Amino acid sequence: MRRILLIMIFTISLSAMLPALEAAGEPAAPRREVVSIRHWTAPEHTRIVLDMSSECVYQVSERSGPDRIVIDIPGGDLAGGLGRLEIKDGVVDRVRVNSLAKGAQVVLDLPAKTRYRHFALKPNDIHRRHRIVIDVDRTITVKERRSETEKARLVAQSGDYIVIIDPGHGGSAPGAPSKFGPSEKYYTLPLAKMIAAEIEQHKGFKAVLTRTGDYDVEWHRRIEVAREHGGHCFVSIHMNSNKNRRIKGSEVYFLSPEGATDMHATAVAERENMQIRMEDRGELIDG
Ligand SMILES: [Zn+2]
Repeated sequence: MRRILLIMIFTISLSAMLPALEAAGEPAAPRREVVSIRHWTAPEHTRIVLDMSSECVYQVSERSGPDRIVIDIPGGDLAGGLGRLEIKDGVVDRVRVNSLAKGAQVVLDLPAKTRYRHFALKPNDIHRRHRIVIDVDRTITVKERRSETEKARLVAQSGDYIVIIDPGHGGSAPGAPSKFGPSEKYYTLPLAKMIAAEIEQHKGFKAVLTRTGDYDVEWHRRIEVAREHGGHCFVSIHMNSNKNRRIKGSEVYFLSPEGATDMHATAVAERENMQIRMEDRGELIDG
């Protein structure tokens, strides 16, 4: 409850800041170019990210016959070499781009109408560009949902000790950069799979991963996975990075079931929960 409460408090303080940030604005950008388009397929949605040369006004609309989602960027244009992107993952067939007199247009062709969300992100230490993100939901049938629930229930009622392994980041959230090149998300997943395989070797233990591929998983979904599978412990794996190369070693964060016991512990818990919230927004570089 303390964790949930702290996250909520931080969220509220962020939203209270938003009007001031918007009012401050930014100097007019010389170009409104769609620089690149990236995509990831997750079990429950497909994420499309438009990397932009500057902060842009954009409009998203739904069209039918055939079903599609259209993103219009008034006054925008397209970087050279940007073309059609075939996805065909059952949620989005392809991404097309159109250069129109009124601006740039990106079209997501869908095999069927479905729900979607969109939001804009500002640059941060990891992502140097403004981004427009569109999450298109996979339509999950009642039968599929029941089957997933049943699988989770069987794990929860197995009588085994259930270890939830949470590979940090994924998809459009790469996590901390490494000096070797690949970012954090590429290390956390194989490591999580190795740990899960080791746990499964021991009788009476079961391991459940919160993600099994390179895709975004929101924090609330990671927690849901743990609850649905009756997790006894939750191990979230991250690889921190620091500009000071002399710093080595590992860090372990844990939440006491009794809650914070003094001022210092309260401060640590608060910092941890703020970190979780910031990572969720992809704003942290040190893991
Ligand atoms: Zn991390």
